[in-house]
This record gives sequence, structure tokens and C-alpha cells, in this order.
Amino acid sequence: MRRPIVAGNWKMNTTRSEAEELVLAIRTLAAAAPTEVVICPPYVWLDLVSRALEGSNMKTGAQDVYWEESGPFTGQIAVTQLVGMCEYAIVGHSERRRLFGDTDEIVARKVVACMGAGLMPILAVGEDAEEHAAGRAEAVVRRQVATALAEVPPHPLVAAYEPVWAIGTGDAANREHAQWIATVIRDELRIAGFDPETVPVLYGGSVTPDNFPGFVAQPDIDGGLVGGASLDARKFATLVEQASTAAY
Ligand code: PEP
Repeated sequence: MRRPIVAGNWKMNTTRSEAEELVLAIRTLAAAAPTEVVICPPYVWLDLVSRALEGSNMKTGAQDVYWEESGPFTGQIAVTQLVGMCEYAIVGHSERRRLFGDTDEIVARKVVACMGAGLMPILAVGEDAEEHAAGRAEAVVRRQVATALAEVPPHPLVAAYEPVWAIGTGDAANREHAQWIATVIRDELRIAGFDPETVPVLYGGSVTPDNFPGFVAQPDIDGGLVGGASLDARKFATLVEQASTAAY
């Protein structure tokens, strides 16, 4: 049985004191859950958040990584610099793909770098609105997963289906559509040589406590990658609780 995961992507939000307050509130409200909780704060608060979670079973993750080990790459963070500070790293988030030029090939390099450093990649994939309207969701997700995993042997991994049109819009995907794409992801994992039954597949895109139970009730959805609702400790703790209830 796959352990559920709820990962919060804080994106470029929170001041130092807000980050401190938020992580402590989440720790208080969600600490006892059997769900794997992963907090992905901005890099600058990663150390602070990791320290605030010491002694709990909650984990931290980076929102992105760079694939080179060191050198003249102004503004970038290497996986080797993250080791010891966090366990997870989101790669392929649609905001990185759309706003910062991360191609499928760049995402693949980031997956390789994470795996080499012992960081668990959370590989985010998903079609945009135009692709969705054209009925190309399956083809896009198959291409994104296949390219991302082309250079790696089977390795622990988390996948997240995040339809771009659902992120931050309040317009979450239909749960049956998300379930179907989760099976597509598992099929591509199998083709890439992974054991698809061992890889948690998350849903992300306007998740709220109102719609999340419908997603985690799906047989192939093992939790959520959460943006907006992860900035509200009560909402986030409710999502963690809902994932636990659905799984156990
Ligand atoms: C995200 O950015 O990964 C995300 C799912 O955001 P939101 O929950 O705000 O739609």
C-alpha cells in the first residue's frame, strides 16, 4: 500500500516571520497524521522550516533545483547544497516550465540530479488549457513523464498530475479526469521500467478541503501537491487529515 503524501508548495510567499508562524502552526495541527507531510518553502526559509520540523515526522522539500554541482550559475541552487536540509524537491512545476523555460529535457536533468544526490523528486506534469481543450492531455503527460525519466534507472519517485489550467484558478480538475491521467502516468512509469504500484501519484490544482476528499478517494491518487491552501495552516491540516482518512 502506498503511503499518502500531502506536499505544500509555498511558492514565493511568506516573510521570515510568516514562515516561522506557519510552519509551527502546521506542526501543531498536523503532526500526528500518518500521511507524509512535505513543506516546500522558498529556499531562503528552507533551513528555518527544516529546523522548526526537527523531531517531527514532517519533511521539507525544495521548490526547484539546478542540475550542475557548482560553478558560475548566479541565482541557482545545486542539489548538493540541499542535501541534509531537505528530503524532497519539486521538479517540472508548470510555473518553472512556463515562466522560466524549463523544457522536458531540462526537467530530465533535474530528475537525474535529484536522484544522484538522494533527494526524492516530485515530478510535476500536466497539460495546459489549450492542450486540454484539444483533447491532448494524455499525449502531453505521456511525453512529459517519458522524457523526464528517459535517463534514469528505476528509483524512488513521486509524481504529481497538475493540469496547468487548474493551478491557482479555483477551477480544479474533474476527479474522474485526474484519476484517468493518474493511470496514464502509471503506464508511462511502467514503460520507463519503474514499478508503477510503488510510486505515489498526487493531484494538484486548486485543491481545497471541499474537493480533496473526492480526489483522494480515487484508486490511483495518493495525495496532493497543494499551492494556495498550503498557506493556511488549518486548511492544510484538514487536507492532511483527509488524505489519512482516505488511505487508512
Ligand atoms: C501548485 O502550484 O502546485 C498548485 C497546485 O497550486 P494551487 O493549489 O494554488 O492551485
